[in-house]
Amino acid sequence: MLDEERQMIVAEVRRFVEREVIPAAHELEKHDTYPVALIEKLKTMGVFAATIAEEYGGLGLDFETYVQIVEELARGWMSLSGIVNTHVLVAYMIQHYGTAEQRQRFLPVMAQGERRGGLCLSEANAGSDVQAITMMATRDGPDYLLNGAKLWVTNGVNASIFAVLARTDPAARPPYRGMSIFLVEKGTAGLSVGRSFEKLGYKGVDTAELIFDNVRVPSANLLGGGEGQGFKHAMSGLEVGRINVAARAVGLARAAFEDAIRYARQRETFGQPIAQHQAIQMKLADMATKIEAARLLLQKAAMKKDRGERSDLEAGMAKLFASEMCQEVTLEAMRIFGGFGYTKEFNVERYYRDAPFMLVGEGTSEIQRLIIARQLLQQYRLEER
Ligand SMILES: Cc1cc2nc3c(=O)[nH]c(=O)nc-3n(C[C@H](O)[C@H](O)[C@H](O)COP(=O)(O)OP(=O)(O)OC[C@H]3O[C@@H](n4cnc5c(N)ncnc54)[C@H](O)[C@@H]3O)c2cc1C
Repeated sequence: MLDEERQMIVAEVRRFVEREVIPAAHELEKHDTYPVALIEKLKTMGVFAATIAEEYGGLGLDFETYVQIVEELARGWMSLSGIVNTHVLVAYMIQHYGTAEQRQRFLPVMAQGERRGGLCLSEANAGSDVQAITMMATRDGPDYLLNGAKLWVTNGVNASIFAVLARTDPAARPPYRGMSIFLVEKGTAGLSVGRSFEKLGYKGVDTAELIFDNVRVPSANLLGGGEGQGFKHAMSGLEVGRINVAARAVGLARAAFEDAIRYARQRETFGQPIAQHQAIQMKLADMATKIEAARLLLQKAAMKKDRGERSDLEAGMAKLFASEMCQEVTLEAMRIFGGFGYTKEFNVERYYRDAPFMLVGEGTSEIQRLIIARQLLQQYRLEER
């Protein structure tokens, strides 16, 4: 349960979504427009500063509060929450694993939202299998030279601080021991944007390829200052990412449910609102129950992360359940809308197109199951009985 101050912050975001996001989302999405005006508002509200510590100009909120903010944003437009999410993830990695100098240099500007973060893990041939990346960082005097390409970078065009996973020791076995994260700033010579993707949904947010051609990065930008820690930092960051995605899934599913129940009370067939038909009531009951179950898993994962504990099991469960739930709930909402659900007259078709991204981003459902199972097999060792 949030205290009064934190509840007020979430309520402020909810009001902003009602007043400014929901009325604008349809047009922005239709034209695949980056939501500049909404981002300006998010900056003034401190959303980009949400989890950054107060000493760096942030709000110092915990993840328990943050996930509720994300739920509200995603209820209005999932894409908007996506712009915030990778930024928060990168800020988290800098705050927890960066050197004192890196924290001072990056976090205050990130808290203002003026300079936003992007995460560069995936490559064309390395998504689920992060250890297969080929991006190289080779030592050159006091600097490193980065060479390779990253794919699918959310905020790739509009972010200006990128956390880039690269190999610093290609001979390391297993490979993850030879990986490091570099903080690369936009404008660094040799860094350019390659292709941008047109997507099924999740519009208005840039998803781009970043090309690194002999990008010279000072060793002061090696996250944490020591080589070989990058994979660990990335996995910890992905716990935040998965909690993020679960919160987005809950918000998106809630939007679909709320639109569906409103429609069901208005639309009449056979002389009565369809909400009076038991078959529709069953759907609504299942939808609401699944959303609530996902929210509880999400809260548990967020609270564990707040305690500073490893939470890959909880984050994985929350992400898996919430994203699959979101897929089901958005489809059910479309069905409740009947033929209109298949048109652009209503928002449900957007929800339905946005939902599948949740099954992929920050690790697919298959990968979440592998992570969950690995943790379970460790917890339930036979010899400990
Ligand atoms: C819109 C969008 C935004 C993204 N944003 C970012 C970002 O900001 N930064 C970033 O670094 N990445 C980002 N990604 C990349 C995303 O994390 C990857 O797409 C995702 O991890 C899956 O990797 P892949 O696409 O290479 O699929 P693959 O790894 O090729 O997987 C293909 C299929 O095989 C399955 N599979 C793979 N391995 C196994 C296994 N061992 N067991 C069972 N099944 C398996 C997968 O579940 C999937 O169904 C984004 C992706 C999208 C679509």
